[in-house]
Amino acid sequence: MNRLTTLTPLIRSGFRWVVPSLTRSFHVTQTCRADVKVIESIKDLRAWRRDQMLNSKTVGLVPTMGALHNGHLSLVQSSLEQNDNTVVSIFVNPSQFAPHEDLSNYPRTLETDIAALKSLDSPNPITVFMPPVSEMYPSGISLEVSKQVGAFVEVKGLSEQLEGSIRPHFFRGVATVVTKLINAVGPERIYFGQKDIQQVVVIKRMVKDLLMPTEVVMNPTVREENSLAMSSRNTYLSQDSRSNSNILYKALATGEKLYKSGVSSRNDILSAINAVLEPFATSADGFHIDVEYISISDKITLKEVDKVNPGSGAIISAAIRVPNKEQKQTRIIDNILLD
Ligand code: AMP
Repeated sequence: MNRLTTLTPLIRSGFRWVVPSLTRSFHVTQTCRADVKVIESIKDLRAWRRDQMLNSKTVGLVPTMGALHNGHLSLVQSSLEQNDNTVVSIFVNPSQFAPHEDLSNYPRTLETDIAALKSLDSPNPITVFMPPVSEMYPSGISLEVSKQVGAFVEVKGLSEQLEGSIRPHFFRGVATVVTKLINAVGPERIYFGQKDIQQVVVIKRMVKDLLMPTEVVMNPTVREENSLAMSSRNTYLSQDSRSNSNILYKALATGEKLYKSGVSSRNDILSAINAVLEPFATSADGFHIDVEYISISDKITLKEVDKVNPGSGAIISAAIRVPNKEQKQTRIIDNILLD
């Protein structure tokens, strides 16, 4: 059983973490609740960071928008293991939402988030950075890009396709807020989930091109029991929709299986994925989905590939809209990395 599979039941049963070296040698479980403190201003964060620097302490950063689930907590756990200190930012970033999107309804569960972090077992402390919008956007922020003023970061060539084709200014918002967080925290390492694979590709390029002194670490996607990728937005789904939405992962896994059997043609892999999704896309009632895109793209350039070459591999990814509790639709995304 790998580390992530063991994490889920541990977190469910009160966020206890088994220290691996101790369990291996002495068969005991050590629980040591992480010390959690909250900082809200950049000024206080910088003062705290200066102390860490003077004491030669390393810092890992886990950027989140809160409504924490096991996917987030797996990133925090990695950071706790690899750094002396961990900063978890909880900030619902306005600039990555379009005016018609769910900024005002986005789930905000601060108390449970802090409780979840406090329940992680680690000798290393966690600093929750929870700035108000005015700290992060001192020149103000409009959701309408044409009305925005001030400095923004764009990563060209990687932000327009896939998620960017549906959410045109999304990665500009993400790159901007991650730049601000890196500037404010100065982390040795910054942690992201494979669930949002395009985000990882965009941020890796940004860090490289803008000479940012931090290492980008990607953790695998954490899934619900039925394989649906965990997401804060899964709370929008009805129970029925939540159980059926694993069809997205099943479809991508069918493509992966075909590739592993020796098939490398884009068209063949896409057809196999489509064949799984199609019945739900054409059904008139019940669990009806709309497919936004299915992609087989290069891992670095995110350009679509005609053939998957073993060794270079590819990303197979897709976005679909599924029914939600309000008789509307919620977007879900997922991906699998081919080697
Ligand atoms: P969010 O709060 O949605 O902005 O996500 C914060 C971080 O958690 C991002 O790096 C996401 O990719 C990561 N994340 C979200 N869901 C998952 C998941 N199911 N497994 C692993 N990482 C995740």
